[in-house]
Amino acid sequence: MTIKKQQKEQSNKLMKIAINHIKAPFAFYLLAFALIIASCSPKVVQPYAVTNKVYLTRTDSILQVIAQQQPVALTDSTGAPIPSSFVGTVNFNARKPNYVIIHFTAQDSAAQTLKTFTIVKTQVSAHYVIGRDGHVYHMLNDYLRAWHAGVSKWGSITDMNSCSIGIELDNNGSEPFAPAQINSLLSLLATLKKNYNIPASNFIGHQDIAPGRKPDPGPFFPWQTLAQHGFGHWSDDVLELAPDNFDPQTALRLIGYDTRDLSAAIVAFKRHFIQTDQSPQLTQLDLNVLYNVYKKY
Ligand SMILES: [Zn+2]
Repeated sequence: MTIKKQQKEQSNKLMKIAINHIKAPFAFYLLAFALIIASCSPKVVQPYAVTNKVYLTRTDSILQVIAQQQPVALTDSTGAPIPSSFVGTVNFNARKPNYVIIHFTAQDSAAQTLKTFTIVKTQVSAHYVIGRDGHVYHMLNDYLRAWHAGVSKWGSITDMNSCSIGIELDNNGSEPFAPAQINSLLSLLATLKKNYNIPASNFIGHQDIAPGRKPDPGPFFPWQTLAQHGFGHWSDDVLELAPDNFDPQTALRLIGYDTRDLSAAIVAFKRHFIQTDQSPQLTQLDLNVLYNVYKKY
């Protein structure tokens, strides 16, 4: 069966689910959602025809879960059931991503990463992979939860996968990023920012949300260029002196860093905002940059 036929069947199946289980406008919403998924025509047919079919099966099962009209099952402190029933509201839409997390793949090619993300045993994925040549591989619908952040924390958010888009850049971790790749990234970020109304502060790196555990996208990543386009922040050219009573730990925490391991948080901050030095000490210049950056959050 061709991918197009599979998608048509998938689309028909989803329409039936919507029509059988629900009434407009919920049906309208689900139909739109199904059509969005069905219209995501895969750019890479071979050798991913089999995994694309698995993708359709998984999205099908997720839509069936969404369409369920089972009320929550609760019991009181004595174990007796609390009466509950399902009354569907007519006013809702899908939850939107509110963060973008940028990664490097630490692999040698985009093909290697596509393989990694289409093998079940790795248990990792991202919404997008961008090749060095600028080719964008869209691997998961933006409304679904990719497995790219892992154990992470930003502010009080501990489930970054549930609120973010993950973008992986084909880069081995110790080399500059290709200009074509960054150009494609900037286009993609502009689209995501517009589609989901993501604030500038919420474009961050894996290193920021998992200090001490993850080094990506590392000191070669052009955060300054991104900030100039409205994605993330960068320090101003002219820096004010950090005041004597300036508390760097509180500033890092207010930006979003997990400061339970302060040294790791400082290194993560410096990988992002200093880049030329990644020691766990803060020089006067580092403090001035931190003071400047924290006022932007
Ligand atoms: Zn990462």
